[in-house]
This record gives sequence, C-alpha cells and structure tokens, in this order.
Amino acid sequence: MESNLQESHLLESHLLEGDVMEANVSGSKLLGGCLCGAVKFALGSDFKAFYQCHCKQCQHVTGSAFASNIIAHKESIEWLSGTDDVEIYEHPTREFTKAFCRHCGSGVPFVNKSGTSLIVPAGSLFESPGIVPDANIFSSEQAAWLADGIKAKHFSGFPE
Ligand SMILES: [Zn+2]
Ligand SMILES: [Zn+2]
Repeated sequence: MESNLQESHLLESHLLEGDVMEANVSGSKLLGGCLCGAVKFALGSDFKAFYQCHCKQCQHVTGSAFASNIIAHKESIEWLSGTDDVEIYEHPTREFTKAFCRHCGSGVPFVNKSGTSLIVPAGSLFESPGIVPDANIFSSEQAAWLADGIKAKHFSGFPE
C-alpha cells in the first residue's frame, strides 16, 4: 500500500498567461498547482482511488496528521508551467517519494517509483476533485492528537 501512495470560473481565473491558454486545457480537466503559482497543471478526472494516509512518513512530509492522495493514471496530467521548479525527494530505504515546488514547498503530483500511477496531493487542486476518500490507510500509525483535534472547537477564521 505504501508504494502505491508513492503512488468554468476557476478555469478562467487561473488562465493568466498566454502559454497556459495554448496548452489546450479542456473544460473537463481539473486545474491544480502550488501555492506560489510557479507550478501549474491540468488533470483528467478519471481517478483510480483516493486515500488518506496516516503513516509516519506522511505525517513528517506534510507536517500534519495525514496525507490526502488521489491515485490517478500516469497519462492524465498535463503540465502547464513550472516543471523545472519541481524537486523530488526519494527516501533512501523506503519506497516513499515527495514532489514539491522548490520555491514554496507545496506538494505536487508525481509518478510513483513503480511507475504504475500518478500520485496527486488532493490539496494541490484549485477545485474539488469531485470524489471523496475511499479509505483511511495506515491508521495504526494515526497521530495521537487527530481524533481529539477533529472534535475540537471550530472557528470560521482565527480563534476569537
Ligand atoms: Zn510554488
Ligand atoms: Zn503515508
């Protein structure tokens, strides 16, 4: 499982540059990218699966409780900008990969080591993926504070 993880209006608002327009983005594709805007991509929405991974590696690499990863077909991505800005981290002993923008650190899609799938951090999409998670995986390693954290008081913005 771990290795698999290694596995409109929005359209208009993100089409800021001419080269993006020329990339032939169809309306059926989802747009995504990094926080600073260097990396942008379009993604077909025929997804294989959607997992929330609670393993220790995902906690470290996200700095949060879990990673939300959509498993997609390798050929479903069309890079629109910033491919030179993508850095890849490969864990030396485990089959674990992280791709990120070298300017802002945002997680971006990558092909898993076995080459079978495109792994898309769900939060890298500018719009809803249109699917919900299929499963929580590696829940045996779940962050000690997650369950209580979800139940904690909610504010619409910063705490009052
Ligand atoms: Zn960036
Ligand atoms: Zn994980």
